Amino acid sequence: MAEPHRGRELALRLREVQEQVEAAARASSRDPSDVTLVVVTKTWPASDVRLLHALGVRDFGENRHPEAELKAAEVVDLELNWHFIGQIQSNKAAKIASYADLVHSVDSARVVQRLEAGARQTDRRVDCMVQVDLDGPVGPVGRGGVRPGEVEALAEAIIAANRLRLVGVMGVAPLGGDPVASYQRLREARDRLTRLVPTALAMSAGMSGDFPEAIAAGATHVRVGSAVLGQRPPLR
Ligand SMILES: *Cc1c(COP(=O)(O)O)cnc(C)c1O
Repeated sequence: MAEPHRGRELALRLREVQEQVEAAARASSRDPSDVTLVVVTKTWPASDVRLLHALGVRDFGENRHPEAELKAAEVVDLELNWHFIGQIQSNKAAKIASYADLVHSVDSARVVQRLEAGARQTDRRVDCMVQVDLDGPVGPVGRGGVRPGEVEALAEAIIAANRLRLVGVMGVAPLGGDPVASYQRLREARDRLTRLVPTALAMSAGMSGDFPEAIAAGATHVRVGSAVLGQRPPLR
């Protein structure tokens, strides 16, 4: 294992991304500390989580349940915030609530019920975002999320769950679309939500290719994988 080399590589790329996050925040007259950089470690080993932790990273994102659970267990000795950002099969949701601190991708009442059950079983509290489908009425199905008009109804379900706290909205820009227009729609959904829950101010948007645009649109959480960790190894 080429750990010293990997550590230097991660340090360089992390610094670069952090500088870009700060620059994007300042360019929109926002306080850089209002933007949380969530480093997405999917497909990368727990040893990378340790190296990033040593560099000061505390917020980590994963998108698939079995991998996330295993990785979180491998570094359970570290104080980290785990962000679950992938589509959730409802039969996995209770398990996810046993290790995730913030679930970005809540998109059905059934998932809310199961997250609540899992949080209760493990005596935890879990922060939640409503994932908003940004593909529009003609877009392909499958990237997850509820239609913008359904956000409030799902928000009510989260509010009714004792162990869950609604903190905002999340979106994934459609492939090949205009991220600026998508993030503007997400921002509008967030603004409508805050009329219902004034503290639900979070907006999770932006990945390696477009996080500066997301920050300009108001993102409070950016989910960045490859710009920090490198191109992902191919999935087996
Ligand atoms: C993988 C993933 C990311 C990070 O993607 P990069 O392009 O590697 O930065 C962000 N959000 C979600 C939902 C993801 O699945």
